[in-house]
Amino acid sequence: MKQYPFLDLKLPNAPYMEEMQHAACNVIASGRYLRGEQTRLFEQEIADLCQAKFCVAVSNGLDALRLIFRAYKELGLLHDGDKVIVPANTYIASVLAVSDNGLQPVLCEPSEATMNLDTEKAESLITPDVKAIMPVHLYGSPCWDDTFIELAKKHGLLIIEDNAQAIGAKASCTGLNGSRMTGNLGHAAGFSFYPTKNLGALGDAGAVVTNDEHLAATVRALANYGSDRRYHNIYKGVNCRIDEIQAAMLRVKIRHLDEETLRRQRIAQIYNETIVSSLVKKPNIYPTEEQVWHQYVIRVTKRDDFREYLLANGVETDIHYATPPHRQPCYTRFASQPLPITEAIANEVVSLPIAHVSEQDAREIATIINGYQP
Ligand SMILES: *Cc1c(COP(=O)(O)O)cnc(C)c1O
Repeated sequence: MKQYPFLDLKLPNAPYMEEMQHAACNVIASGRYLRGEQTRLFEQEIADLCQAKFCVAVSNGLDALRLIFRAYKELGLLHDGDKVIVPANTYIASVLAVSDNGLQPVLCEPSEATMNLDTEKAESLITPDVKAIMPVHLYGSPCWDDTFIELAKKHGLLIIEDNAQAIGAKASCTGLNGSRMTGNLGHAAGFSFYPTKNLGALGDAGAVVTNDEHLAATVRALANYGSDRRYHNIYKGVNCRIDEIQAAMLRVKIRHLDEETLRRQRIAQIYNETIVSSLVKKPNIYPTEEQVWHQYVIRVTKRDDFREYLLANGVETDIHYATPPHRQPCYTRFASQPLPITEAIANEVVSLPIAHVSEQDAREIATIINGYQP
């Protein structure tokens, strides 16, 4: 029987093997393995892609977000105990970045339709202690409308985007600086280049993007032992640098990001058009170029049964995410908060193969889905 694997990471990297080998050899031969030309050029390329002024490449996506909060604390804009509104249905790293810095996450229910942060619900959670809000562009769909700007202005909030899943996505509303790319909508954004992300390294990597020169400089110093120049430490910093070799790998792949995104959009379009089962709730669809489809996530009430049926027909699926942060053992203090939409989502979501499937395979997967009878 034909198999449809969820994701075999060898495959999306295979087309770039020669280019990556060449780039890796150049780094090895250069003798410069950190804070070199590859990192500098990669930062410029990410900033350009987002039409933003500054990019600081760092060790991974969680560190990118942690460093943003830490930098705002060093700059005196955030203080211990301040609250940050975070979507309840996100990957736990969004929440960890907040609590890691002595800040308090305030978990907010998503919109039932978009599965992204609901600004009406977010506004109802705003108290004088709330100093920031974190839109997470989950699954590659922009979490944005003008309300974010209004809320931020009205309540003096920082907007910190978690853009880990949405590089290259666009928001249809005007951002703080007139830009429409996600990662350049608020005050600062964290990016992840974890190997499964839309732009994936061959290991860990991440970036901070911002138009704020002071924030960029503070993040850069913090990530390099807190030093603003050699052997001069202005902060008690950390070591969260990116490797030259990862920057070089990412520079190969960033040149192909547009075609990879178009391919994901084409597969999503096939799923959208071909899946017709009344038992499946398809994702919200935005104007074409806005979503970059990190995951194609459907909702099915009898999820286990549905996934078993698909697996019996060769289709491997995944779940993003089965256990929301407030149900994790490390966050028991949130466990009593009623978050019914978040929990329903966690119980019903199924991610279909999208990262490396052919159009033909997508049609076959959709046909198999349409044949599901509980
Ligand atoms: C992957 C991811 C992160 C963390 O990125 P890492 O590079 O794995 O540390 C943060 N937030 C979201 C939404 C993610 O998907």
